[in-house]
Amino acid sequence: MAEQNITSNGTTVSTLCKRCCTSPSVINLRTEHLCSDCFDKYIRSKCIKRMEAYRVRYNPPDTDTSPRRLLLPLSFGISSTTLLHLLNSQLQNQLARTTRTGFVLVVVHIDESAIDPTVPPGEKSMRAVQERFPHVGEYLVVKLEGIYEFPSAVKAFEMGVGGSGGGDWEEKLKDLLGALPSSTSRMDVLHILRTRLITGLARKHACEAVLWGDTTTRLAEKTLAETAKGRGFSIPWQTSDGDSPYGLKFLYPLRDLLKKELAVYISLDAPTPLRPLCSGAAEEGEGKKKYAAVGKGITIDELMTQYFEGIEGQYPSIVANVVRTAGKLVTEGGVVRIGRCKICGLPRDGGGGELVLGAGAKSGETSGGGGKEGGDMCYGCARSVYGARPYEWPL
Ligand SMILES: [Zn+2]
Ligand SMILES: [Zn+2]
Repeated sequence: MAEQNITSNGTTVSTLCKRCCTSPSVINLRTEHLCSDCFDKYIRSKCIKRMEAYRVRYNPPDTDTSPRRLLLPLSFGISSTTLLHLLNSQLQNQLARTTRTGFVLVVVHIDESAIDPTVPPGEKSMRAVQERFPHVGEYLVVKLEGIYEFPSAVKAFEMGVGGSGGGDWEEKLKDLLGALPSSTSRMDVLHILRTRLITGLARKHACEAVLWGDTTTRLAEKTLAETAKGRGFSIPWQTSDGDSPYGLKFLYPLRDLLKKELAVYISLDAPTPLRPLCSGAAEEGEGKKKYAAVGKGITIDELMTQYFEGIEGQYPSIVANVVRTAGKLVTEGGVVRIGRCKICGLPRDGGGGELVLGAGAKSGETSGGGGKEGGDMCYGCARSVYGARPYEWPL
């Protein structure tokens, strides 16, 4: 495809693939030129390595229990669409080899049209994806306001902001987001609601794990953004494979791949281009810009996205290092010993109590909850929900 524009010196000679030495290169992968076949193998191998636990177990079919159920949140962006494609291949290979599969997927799209009318309803995109991958498991489109089906996930919000009481779920969601003090808070709370809805659905549909599409680049963005938002303490639980604070496993099978690598991958012709299925891809950047336009300036998440997308081309090892370092922060004692934030559900730093209470106390006039409520929130959520003064960026 585009072997020439990979070499930055303007030459138009096609570079040969370093691995097979026969086909032209389509990507310069961390200094190694690869053709589309070898690049495809590379991408698959990275994902399969992370899915080791879900190989088919070789016990006789009659003693076999039902396959393990895994939830895959699909935004129609590049990463989650690629992940679905790779898992579909893995399932097809398992079927071909053993006539059984090691897992089935529950593919869920969260429809956010209630809070952003420009977002196309998910059903049509979901049908296209389902036609392409008909045998991976179940497909669901769930509205974001469906979060109110899970009272434990929203109870804390109702006490903190907005009134409690009954009412229309869509209106309640709009009231909640409208009451937040800044675009950073809105994006932050939106992210929390999305995560809590997805984990609620995973439990409801008997899934043992959630498979997130996050790349190395995305995990690095998240690491620094959460630190900047005052949730640094919880980063190991937001970026590592394994038990999450939500009572099921979180896995990141694309954690060894860069976002720019997936951007090339979805445009390859072989086997069939994935790009047409990525209806959310164009909005990934624009959607975030739109949120920024609502409030003033740029949100912390946007800043981090721009930063890492800017450096991943030239300095992929820095991006990988941020994630690797975050992975080493796991503390002894686990989640049980430390308190959990009632808003985001993540472990919170007991040592930050004064900050939490301080931020909560400011809410006295604006919410019935008052400072006492702030005590069981992490600093990041207290600031998002009660509108404690945000940092001026850059620091
Ligand atoms: Zn090759
Ligand atoms: Zn929190």
